Amino acid sequence: MPGGTDEATILIVEDEENIRFSLAAGLKREGYGVLTAAQGEEALELLGQHPVDLVLLDLMLPNMSGFDVCRLVRRDSQVPIIMVTARDAETDVIVGLEMGADDYVTKPFSLNVLLARIRANMRRTAVQQDPEHEAVQVGSVRLDSESYRAMAGTVSLDLTPRLFHLLLFMAQQLGKVCSRDQILNAVWGYDYVGETRTVDVHIHWLREKIQEHAPDLRLETVRGVGYRLVVHECSRGQPTGGEQE
Ligand code: CA
Repeated sequence: MPGGTDEATILIVEDEENIRFSLAAGLKREGYGVLTAAQGEEALELLGQHPVDLVLLDLMLPNMSGFDVCRLVRRDSQVPIIMVTARDAETDVIVGLEMGADDYVTKPFSLNVLLARIRANMRRTAVQQDPEHEAVQVGSVRLDSESYRAMAGTVSLDLTPRLFHLLLFMAQQLGKVCSRDQILNAVWGYDYVGETRTVDVHIHWLREKIQEHAPDLRLETVRGVGYRLVVHECSRGQPTGGEQE
């Protein structure tokens, strides 16, 4: 195995041989371990046999669809899943997210775009939960769910409880695209009678707080779908305090 002991393994599920081969070659060049499957059943088998760190899942597959693969994987695994969709398939994206996928790329995509999405989704598993203090560290921000305080180093972001919950939820889904409905259900609750516009307004407020105090975090708008929280590496080199643990 090239690349050392801690290389991450990516499972590529893609029925088109050319795309499968070129993706596998591109990811191997970047130092990833690669498994490939041409269809869903094969993918599920590989997932049962090998540790996999991320799944790249084409939705248009023969026999079992990518949606079904996604649903079946989610029955017993939280492995990050990035869907590969046809251009202009917003409905597919939303259905895929509901089936448990984390993110998507639209064909045709560049390897660089894909690599960025892969890194963002792998980072989510690196979000650190401190069970004793019920605190979550995301980038420069530490979220303490006992005191509802969000701190960037020694500076408080001064969030309302709702904005705190919104940021906590987005941090737990770091790198993942969240639809407005998913955010509404998670932060406001399933019983909440309201519209997804509420989400947009709160995201706007939260974005202002983040820009001011924690510029390494970005709340990105994913057009037609929702939002995702990412940590920007360019700002990560700066000392922010609280990194010692
Ligand atoms: Ca296909």
